[in-house]
Amino acid sequence: MKDAPIRMCAVCRKHGEQDNFIRVVRSQGKVLVTGLRKISGRSLYLCKDQACIDKAIKSRLITRTFPEADDSIYEEIKAAYANSQN
Ligand SMILES: [Zn+2]
Repeated sequence: MKDAPIRMCAVCRKHGEQDNFIRVVRSQGKVLVTGLRKISGRSLYLCKDQACIDKAIKSRLITRTFPEADDSIYEEIKAAYANSQN
């Protein structure tokens, strides 16, 4: 058995398996929200938790971490979070 990679939420610093987080990745100069592990690049993880999503948006965490991202990234994160609750 292979150990699942452990990730950390950029807001609350909670650790957990990758599946518990929404992943934001910078790849080839673009910043995207993805669940695809095959896309590699500098990554940031957020709990699938309303409080962490809200804090990331309010503090503008993503655009501070990835200056090339624009505000539409927050809409993508909200959408990814909504999908994860289904
Ligand atoms: Zn968190």
